[in-house]
Amino acid sequence: MTQGWEKPPANAGTPRLGLAADAGLAATEYTSGHRAPLSGRNTATATPRGSNASKISDPPTGSLTGGERPAVVREVPGVATEHLPSVNTPPVNDSRNPVTVGNTPTVTVDVSRETSTNTESPLADQVLSESQRRSKLENTPPPLPVKPRVFTVSNQKGGVGKTTTTVNLASALARAGARVLVIDLDPQGNASTALGVDHRSERPSIYEVLVADLPIADVVQQSRESPLLDCIPATIHLAGAEIELVSLVAREQRLRRALDVYLDSVPDPYHYVFIDCPPSLGLLTINAFVAAREVLIPIQCEYYALEGLSQLLSNIQLIEKHLNPALRVSAILLTMFDNRTNLAQQVANEVREHFPNQTLNTVIPRSVRVSEAPSYGQTVISYDFSSTGALSYREAATELAQRSAPKTAGAR
Ligand code: ADP
Ligand code: MG
Repeated sequence: MTQGWEKPPANAGTPRLGLAADAGLAATEYTSGHRAPLSGRNTATATPRGSNASKISDPPTGSLTGGERPAVVREVPGVATEHLPSVNTPPVNDSRNPVTVGNTPTVTVDVSRETSTNTESPLADQVLSESQRRSKLENTPPPLPVKPRVFTVSNQKGGVGKTTTTVNLASALARAGARVLVIDLDPQGNASTALGVDHRSERPSIYEVLVADLPIADVVQQSRESPLLDCIPATIHLAGAEIELVSLVAREQRLRRALDVYLDSVPDPYHYVFIDCPPSLGLLTINAFVAAREVLIPIQCEYYALEGLSQLLSNIQLIEKHLNPALRVSAILLTMFDNRTNLAQQVANEVREHFPNQTLNTVIPRSVRVSEAPSYGQTVISYDFSSTGALSYREAATELAQRSAPKTAGAR
């Protein structure tokens, strides 16, 4: 599965992103290009004649009589032309631009044949498409697994959306009726914050579970997000756990054992468990890999996104070989996608090319609402359910649920 992850040759025809120093930025020119957000929108302006479409257009002909001023359209790289002032609206009271109909000089606002039949707008398109996506989601609630599916959300890079993905998928699934447990395994405690659970240093947390054998039942808290969503918080004490774990018996298995006991004893079984990892490949992350059956890797659609991925994958293979034969990379989620840049699209293509089976069709867009939500101690699902970010995470949750867990030996 992961063996196909090979460093491509330096002279490969298609540029590779972040895979090697020899596929450098200058040579591949990833960052220089931009495109307009929605393809086909440029037709809202007068279409230039001739082959050089990026230059100044010829004036529209046919409908103007006398004294008309040529409509000038410039396409500015990286700027959506639909946001530019319309060239089809001549300035009112502009004596240089009279348009004559019959004998009465008048001003008309619609002088371009290219836009006269165009009633659509990008905003209308987006609203329509989102409402279709919403109704599709309403009609296809995510299926519930028979046995708990335990995911580790991991990527040793920081700031790629691990925590955001963990809490939003968890909240989306809980909203859809699943019982979900989030284990915050990052000393920063961001997942605990986003789920609105108490993680002050005096609170018993995952640290005590790992280091002092406290049962999970004693530390788990219900999230404010949903009665179906629980969280094991992380406190600042967890920062020392990497070192303290080193001298403990079965140091890689401690989370697995505690979780097995808890999942077997809990009266109301969970459907999903998500473990939010710290941005490192230390003992905490190894504990998460050993406790889980599935790995979900969020990848930020930026340059360098794929650097370090091969190291992550080879670590997962080592864990699979020595500690947890059931472990599989079951999903890759593209996050913070910015459709105004070619780079984001190129990263997405590159990831899909290498991981066609694992990469989810759903892509999470970069969205202000998603980044605002944690400051209110919320996920975007509860903070702004109708936002595009919430919609995308709900779609990702449904897609994840619809994909059955990978068939592996020794499954829980
Ligand atoms: P990680 O857990 O991998 O370190 P986070 O989930 O904490 O990453 O995300 C890093 C930052 O990016 C946070 O400030 C978060 O709010 C922001 N962020 C994550 N996803 C998005 C998104 N889709 N749109 C905008 N901001 C995002
Ligand atoms: Mg995090």
